[in-house]
Amino acid sequence: MSDAPKQPAKPSTPSLNPFPLRERIKMPRQHMPEQSAEERARNYGEVNLGYSAELARQEALRCLECAKKVCTTNCPVGVKVGEFVQLILAGDFAGAAAKIREDNVLPAITGRVCPQEDHCEGACLLHKKGESLGIGYLERFVADYEQRMGIHSFHKVPPTGKKVAIVGSGPSGLTAAGELVQQGHNVHVFEALHELGGVLVYGIPEFRLPKQIIREQLDYMRAMGVEFETDVVVGRTVTIDELMEEEGFDAVFVGTGAGLPVFMKIPGEHCNGVYSANEFLTRINLMHAYEFPKYDEPIVDCRSKDVAVIGAGNTALDAIRSALRLGARKAFVIYRRSEAEMPARAEEVKHAREEGIDFQMLTAPVEFLSDSKGWLTAARCVRMELGEPDASGRRRPVPIKGSEFDLPLSVAVMAIGTSANPIIQSTTPGLKTNQRGYIDADQTTQRTSRKGIFAGGDIVTGSATVILAMGAGRRAAKSIHEYLTTGVW
Ligand code: FAD
Ligand code: SF4
Repeated sequence: MSDAPKQPAKPSTPSLNPFPLRERIKMPRQHMPEQSAEERARNYGEVNLGYSAELARQEALRCLECAKKVCTTNCPVGVKVGEFVQLILAGDFAGAAAKIREDNVLPAITGRVCPQEDHCEGACLLHKKGESLGIGYLERFVADYEQRMGIHSFHKVPPTGKKVAIVGSGPSGLTAAGELVQQGHNVHVFEALHELGGVLVYGIPEFRLPKQIIREQLDYMRAMGVEFETDVVVGRTVTIDELMEEEGFDAVFVGTGAGLPVFMKIPGEHCNGVYSANEFLTRINLMHAYEFPKYDEPIVDCRSKDVAVIGAGNTALDAIRSALRLGARKAFVIYRRSEAEMPARAEEVKHAREEGIDFQMLTAPVEFLSDSKGWLTAARCVRMELGEPDASGRRRPVPIKGSEFDLPLSVAVMAIGTSANPIIQSTTPGLKTNQRGYIDADQTTQRTSRKGIFAGGDIVTGSATVILAMGAGRRAAKSIHEYLTTGVW
């Protein structure tokens, strides 16, 4: 049987790739250089070290240059993968970065944290033959190159005189801001916290997404003309109606995320030593616990302690890998389903295993036990088996009778999900929400029930991903621009 892919490659321009398809599909994917597991498990440096120019070129040579760009159609912001990979082959790394930036205003971030296996790389034809093209790694390479060289590739158009307020500086808000400012609108981002970036800065730890990378992307946006204001809780400091009626904003985008912690409501959950992942990670990321002993943030003292996280998404893995780096003696993931259902990015699961995280699968806590002073001593757990599929389509975990056991612990972190940040909804009359408190917004235009107000990201969908939030920000920017230029709602 032939090894050649079914879909013939028909590049519209002559290919720069000297290798025939048959050889390209045999080329192994270039590994991402990384810190060794032993070393990185005890420091906060970035795990992945990035491709060199040579590795990037070698990886780019694997691209099959398919006629039907399934990688692009499966990217929520439509990055032109084939075109930027060709520019890498031409040695034009700045051009490749500019090509990505036509659709994606945060390439150094998506190149690091996108769940590529669910999007561009999942659709890549090479994936069917073995390992997909390293699209995320290539994206990161050119974005880092652009940053290192101090290259700016955005275009300026004459000002329209229209003002847009963006509420929240997470990936949805930043994307909407970056797109709108390039259309000539005056864009002002309001952020409740003292740091910009949303989950990118207070949730995702330094070892996966260095704060410096986020700062650089924000500086890039400042250079584009986006204005930022921190410590403004819209709904408290100022309402959306005041922004529109008194401060002259013509449109508002709400990207306030879904950061409210959810608990299991089991006995003992409020004892000392049990945290929400949100609090745990915020203390580490924004209150500098990761820079111990330079900063002494005692609340998340994990040194020589046994720590567990409940849940198995990206948040859970970030929390437990942070605990390991803060000196935990043993670090457990407790998850009620099996490995196949784990929602975390595949690369994070692999890295966590290599670092020595102990995965207790098909297991759930039923109670937290504490000492006479109220400090956590153990989680009483039960083993599970998988039954029939539930509403999510995943097989329902069912407790096995008599399988209870106690897992000694000093710290437990709850990472079983989050719910909507509620302030905007409760202070903006006429803004419709669904039963779970998320803002109702049209899936194509991101329009809400209130004229001039748009919404997107986790505050509409519930907790999702960076690139899905960015996709919503991009759609919103398009329809805000239409609204501002035509006046039609
Ligand atoms: P957010 O990023 O939540 O940003 C919302 C912002 O709005 C926040 O800064 C908040 O302070 C601000 N805000 C809220 N209310 C107000 C107000 N009233 N006034 C002003 N500002 C306000 N996704 C991935 O794709 N890959 C990953 O590896 C990944 N890892 C994750 C790790 C963790 C720990 C967490 C928690 C999530 C992770 N996610 C990941 C999910 C992803 O980060 C989110 O889906 C994404 O950040 C949502 O973007 P957003 O813009 O909707 O909201
Ligand atoms: Fe893939 Fe994400 Fe880049 Fe899109 S933005 S091409 S999904 S890595």
